[in-house]
Amino acid sequence: MNKTPADILIVDDTPENLRLLSRMLTKQGYNVRKAISGQMALRAVNTAPPNLILLDIMMPQVDGYEVCQQLKNNPQTCEIPIIFLSALDDVIDKVKAFKVGGVDYITKPFHLEEVLIRIQNQLSLQAAEKEVLLLNTQLEMRVQERTKQLEEANAKLLEMALHDSLTGLANRVLFMDRLKQALDYTQVNSEYKFAVMFLDCDRFKVVNDSLGHLVGDELLIAISGRLQKVLKPEDTLARLGGDEFGILQINIQDIDPAVNLANQIFELLSYPFKLLRHEVFINASIGITLGNNNYEKPEYLLRDADTAMYQAKASGKARYHIFTPEMHNSALQLLQLETDLRRAINQQEFIVYYQPIIEFNTGKITGFEALVRWYHPQRGIVSPGLFIPIAEETGLINPLGNLVMREACHQLYKWQQQKITDYPLTMSINLSVRQFAQPNLIEQVDKILTETQVNPQNIKLEITESAIMENTKTADILLKKLRERYIKLCIDDFGTGYSSLSYLHLFPVDTLKIDRSFIWSIDDKSTDLGLVPAIISIAKTMRMNVVAEGIETPIQFKQLKKLKCDFGQGFLFSKPLEAEKITQLLKTNPQWQCSTMNN
Ligand code: C2E
Ligand code: CA
Ligand code: CA
Repeated sequence: MNKTPADILIVDDTPENLRLLSRMLTKQGYNVRKAISGQMALRAVNTAPPNLILLDIMMPQVDGYEVCQQLKNNPQTCEIPIIFLSALDDVIDKVKAFKVGGVDYITKPFHLEEVLIRIQNQLSLQAAEKEVLLLNTQLEMRVQERTKQLEEANAKLLEMALHDSLTGLANRVLFMDRLKQALDYTQVNSEYKFAVMFLDCDRFKVVNDSLGHLVGDELLIAISGRLQKVLKPEDTLARLGGDEFGILQINIQDIDPAVNLANQIFELLSYPFKLLRHEVFINASIGITLGNNNYEKPEYLLRDADTAMYQAKASGKARYHIFTPEMHNSALQLLQLETDLRRAINQQEFIVYYQPIIEFNTGKITGFEALVRWYHPQRGIVSPGLFIPIAEETGLINPLGNLVMREACHQLYKWQQQKITDYPLTMSINLSVRQFAQPNLIEQVDKILTETQVNPQNIKLEITESAIMENTKTADILLKKLRERYIKLCIDDFGTGYSSLSYLHLFPVDTLKIDRSFIWSIDDKSTDLGLVPAIISIAKTMRMNVVAEGIETPIQFKQLKKLKCDFGQGFLFSKPLEAEKITQLLKTNPQWQCSTMNN
């Protein structure tokens, strides 16, 4: 192991002994140093500690025991093995020799073999001890290293469990934990307040669907980067899932800082996001709730912020809403409606109403729009504006939509059979976004067409721009299939959705229906007709028909006719009515001419 010869210090006050031993050991290859007294020995050891000491016990002034004790008391030298030397006739105290720290003793006169063996024993014992010590420290180091690795792995796991891998933000679990901490603190300090915000991106799905998920991810990262900029270090920003973010703003006096923050966020989002290959605009709806000691559970905080966010979306997106307890009630009512809606489909609580559509040239009814009504056993008639969005969200729109389509087609067939008019009537049926995305839509349509035997040429489906934009991949094939069946297509609420007209070139659209918000503003004083003339001229250029909806006054009728709008629909002509009433109306063969109407 150790190739360098061991260093041995011999201490004896008898020079002869010193010489003898020294010669003997040098011959064996050891490095030998000598000391003639205890003091000298201590100095020699302190200058350079030997590997082993042969120490005479009986010496004047400082004896062997004393030297040994001193060396053992010094941490620098305490490990050096000491073998005592004693004359045979010396009365030595063996017990004391071991007590002060000696490891062995040799009696004079010396036998060469005995001395060597005892020295070798001690040296190899010491080497072995050193080896063990080394192994122990190595082992300890490895254990420490492994512990560190384990700790790191644990920290990483914890980080993964509490953070969103895409944005690196806190995830829902961590966010809920922070909400709990804030809530717990209100128990300690009842004055303590904080704000919880729920942020949901508007129209994020469109970005995802049209530009792809990678771009969607890139955008989410960019959004989280911007949001982080406006937050204080003590606040928490979390990605709750999809395009939803949560913000916890702690230690505030009232709602004002949260409102300020929301406004700052809107300001930040008003600039385009310059992504790798695209420039994208995105906005968000924010719900805010003020956290205080009235709250019992962190889940309620998030629920209320979420409810407020829904309100913000419902009132037109790109805005914030502050939660009020009434909102919770209306949310509960909506939940009740959802339950009722499931039952209503089985109980046949739905009735289809029909609103006449008038052809301006002849003033006659050219067809109808089918509009569903819900006769709720307790609430009476519930507006479709209220339950259609719920039906959309829950997927109940599919059975409901089928029901309306079947009924409307069946009714049209009946009127055609009765020959109430001497010309074919049309039936416009609304298709919501979700219905349009339904994979078996064409199958359902085919089934209804066969069942009701209606002529598909007289059926017109009304879809909104978002139905196309949110299903760009499937829209193309779907619309072509409808076209193959001679079914007509109408863009509903035109002008309110996407300002992109490009899709009009791409898809076979027959009719544009101008949204009622454009019609309302038309009165006798208005010289500005807004977008209406532009929409009509787009339609004409692209060989499409135009229907104006929501016509309530003769002025509106007159103005639209002047602008060469083809068709109209509104309370001026007729409200949506039950089939029976429409049959009666048709029998009177009504005709509307704006010249004969009072302004
Ligand atoms: P919409 O497709 O824009 O339907 C026209 C709405 O305008 C109808 O509201 C109709 O009653 C109303 N309306 C017609 N003329 C006038 C007018 O002169 N003045 C005013 N103020 N309103 C007028 P309704 O029936 O409440 O339906 C609301 C929405 O619910 C519809 O808007 C449509 O998006 C949806 N909806 C109705 N029935 C169905 C359906 O069977 N399926 C689907 N998917 N959606 C439906
Ligand atoms: Ca419609
Ligand atoms: Ca409409």
